[in-house]
Amino acid sequence: MFDPISSPTTAVAANREPQFVHGEQVGAAERKIEEYARTHGGRRPNILVVLMDDVGWGDFGCYGGGIAVGAPTPNIDRLARTGLQLTSCYSEPSCTPSRATLMTGRVPMRHGLQRPPMYGDQGGLQGEITVAQLLSDAGYVTQCVGKWHMGENRDSQPQHVGFDDFYGFLSVSDMYTEWRDPYFFPEVVYSQARTEWIQNQPFSKCFVHATRGGDVEEVEEVTIPALTLLDEKWAQYSVDFIRTMAAVDQPWFLYHNTRGAHFDNYPSEQWVGASPAKHPYKDTILELDDIVGRLIRTLEETGQLEHTLVWVSSDNGPEMETWPDAAYTPFRCAKGSTWEGGVRVPSIFSWPGMIDAARSSDGLFTFSDFLPTMLSLARALDRVPTDRFIDGIDQTSFLLAPDGLSNRKHQYYWLGQMFSALRVGEYKYMLASISDDDTDVLNPGGFTGRSQKYPYGRLYNLYLDPKETRSYLIRKLAYLDAIQRGIREHVTTFRDYPPKLVIGLNV
Ligand code: CA
Repeated sequence: MFDPISSPTTAVAANREPQFVHGEQVGAAERKIEEYARTHGGRRPNILVVLMDDVGWGDFGCYGGGIAVGAPTPNIDRLARTGLQLTSCYSEPSCTPSRATLMTGRVPMRHGLQRPPMYGDQGGLQGEITVAQLLSDAGYVTQCVGKWHMGENRDSQPQHVGFDDFYGFLSVSDMYTEWRDPYFFPEVVYSQARTEWIQNQPFSKCFVHATRGGDVEEVEEVTIPALTLLDEKWAQYSVDFIRTMAAVDQPWFLYHNTRGAHFDNYPSEQWVGASPAKHPYKDTILELDDIVGRLIRTLEETGQLEHTLVWVSSDNGPEMETWPDAAYTPFRCAKGSTWEGGVRVPSIFSWPGMIDAARSSDGLFTFSDFLPTMLSLARALDRVPTDRFIDGIDQTSFLLAPDGLSNRKHQYYWLGQMFSALRVGEYKYMLASISDDDTDVLNPGGFTGRSQKYPYGRLYNLYLDPKETRSYLIRKLAYLDAIQRGIREHVTTFRDYPPKLVIGLNV
């Protein structure tokens, strides 16, 4: 009888995370894929990722938010009913580490982007192998739209790391607008000297377009009025891409990254005050839900819905330093931390006919799992890199088998270069954290707190205590040896595969 804590994992390769192998489910998933290919002339699925920014685990109706928190999300809720809703999907604590983990299948200690590059910081994805490049090598058309934020330097830009085309901005929403808004930065807006000083800092002020191997062309400067329309323009670009691809034989990978709902939110005229909450953050959630609806409708109208795996998620937990321009999570703390509130994100997979409808699971899935899983669906698993450590696990059987179980045993939490915690089953063992004041249960923000180490560790039961307030360690010492072995085996991989540091975190 399978049990996530007592069942052993199977080794895959020296450079891969060990995983559970649910033999019957692997067989069922393989039969589905073969049947799909056989009945559709060898076709492989398209992949549509809609990655939102700073949207919380609890924001959507299907996660207990929606209308209850002043922002109904009917399209996303409907999508969840057509597919698989995960309750334990893990990002990294902030934008860039998460996005780079999704792109590379590697934890930030390996790809080296431990915090977001800001205001001209150097470094990015350069030198990594991305899922976009691997899918492209396997015959996919690769399109990136919207926020990038994995380095502005030429060799880290999307069109140099695997994408055929890019239409979006290279950095993050607040960097384009914060210093232009007199409410937040009066001392800059009303000072010509400081405005010029910021304008001369070496970061891009525009949203751009680029094609594979080329240089970026500036489309438009991202002023505040321009920013209000970005999600609409990007959605239209993706809709056009999906329409164009309907007539193309190749499968495609569309990586659509919304601007919303990262602070600060300035909804366009159509969306101002549209939510019951009337707040810009909530209005933006309505717009994002509408965009998901439009993308799905476009797939339907062009006959591609049953040939497309859709994944909707968010890149980290809510940003609480900017409350009330912030998301909702029922968990402890927020973006920037390794408490559940920082890294547990909404996650909905849909592929009608292939993923059973109305499923939900608390099985572990991490952003690193995306790369091997998508390569498996593209029947290109042999392209998973062998020259570096890949933390991701192939979760194909989890997605496709009826009542599929996760193939992942451990979730590893890192705070920069400091190992923070391990989750196995419902237990989370924490050795270090950010922001351990009692008040942080109320979510003051993960970037604000101090780092803290626990000499004996703390053990939380996430089912009994999702807010991580009571260490259960002394009552549950029976788990300790297995948990510590899990940590040791993970940390030991860095001996043969040394960590990489591009942008570090001061903890
Ligand atoms: Ca983010």
